[in-house]
Amino acid sequence: MSELTIDSIQTTILDVPLVRPHKFATTVMDKQPLLLVEVRTSGGVIGFGEAVVPGGPWWGGESVETMKALIDGHMAPVVLGRSAEDITGIMLDIERVVAKATFAKAGVEVALHDAWARSLGVPVHTLLGGAYRDSVDVTWALGSAPIAEIIDEALAKLEQRMNFSFKLKMGALHPAADTQRVLAVVAALEGKAGVRVDINARWDRFTALRYLPQLADGGVELIEQPTPGDQIEVLAELSRILPVPIMADESVLTPHDALEVVRQQAAAVIAVKTTKCGGLQRSRDVVAIARAAGVACHGATSIEGPIGTAASIHFACSQPGINFGSELFGPLLFAEELLAEPLRYGDGKVALPQGPGLGVELNMDAVKTWTRN
Ligand code: MN
Repeated sequence: MSELTIDSIQTTILDVPLVRPHKFATTVMDKQPLLLVEVRTSGGVIGFGEAVVPGGPWWGGESVETMKALIDGHMAPVVLGRSAEDITGIMLDIERVVAKATFAKAGVEVALHDAWARSLGVPVHTLLGGAYRDSVDVTWALGSAPIAEIIDEALAKLEQRMNFSFKLKMGALHPAADTQRVLAVVAALEGKAGVRVDINARWDRFTALRYLPQLADGGVELIEQPTPGDQIEVLAELSRILPVPIMADESVLTPHDALEVVRQQAAAVIAVKTTKCGGLQRSRDVVAIARAAGVACHGATSIEGPIGTAASIHFACSQPGINFGSELFGPLLFAEELLAEPLRYGDGKVALPQGPGLGVELNMDAVKTWTRN
């Protein structure tokens, strides 16, 4: 048995409180559940990954509970006894017993990368070809408070030089009121910071045709996934008629989805989440297709905690194709620090953590405090 043999894989659900409620089109979260995936090698090295979805199953059908069941019951038997360096083979074999479930697979895949990199004494980005940059720009997602509070939040972030661009979630209100709300924020930040919107696939084609031109005219700099994910042709139509870029998110989980978006010229930017794509390897496949087609990629988030965010930072910093910044702000939304040494944010960026593996160490007392009983 080699030092790299995986001899245990454990999953733990945490519920971590947020600094303020985070609103999506169909749900509000005041705490974020995280599924911590821990693999241990026979050499005593521990690797962590996070399986995490944004506040519940509304986004992609997975939740921490379904992910725990799939990992414990169906993925763990594939992983146990294999070598941590056999990531490609392990993930292909998991594909044979678990379809889809990309968020759960990402948790396992990142834990394997962390364990393998720590065993070698190198950072995870080394396994991805090395760091191409040592930090990545971070856009901040503003809350759903009254307009004046949202503007104050943005101005405070600018003042602290934490973020220089902002994203607003849409889709929870009537489209007319929602559009007015966004345009008021854009007007208040004009000349200071760019504002983009994410409609999380909530509008139908007619609603998009009616209100997106108003958002573009009012100065919104980018529109993320206005219409349903599977309607690539609608995204393509909107891309043709709008003067601002469209970002595809719900439309792209797999490399083949990316190929379809490229073929139909449906988006200028693709939101790449290492979670929804099923891990670092598959995210790289998505970025490669986009890059070959001249489509930009954004390092997106499903509100990962520090482990998932660190994985996404290693990914973003190793990929020239992540050329449209990131929204890797997840840990800043958490009211409790789970790391011994927090990730470093500032000057509109987050820094690539240094050291072996993901380059971050969990504070196990904090983990214990927020573990679900
Ligand atoms: Mn999105």
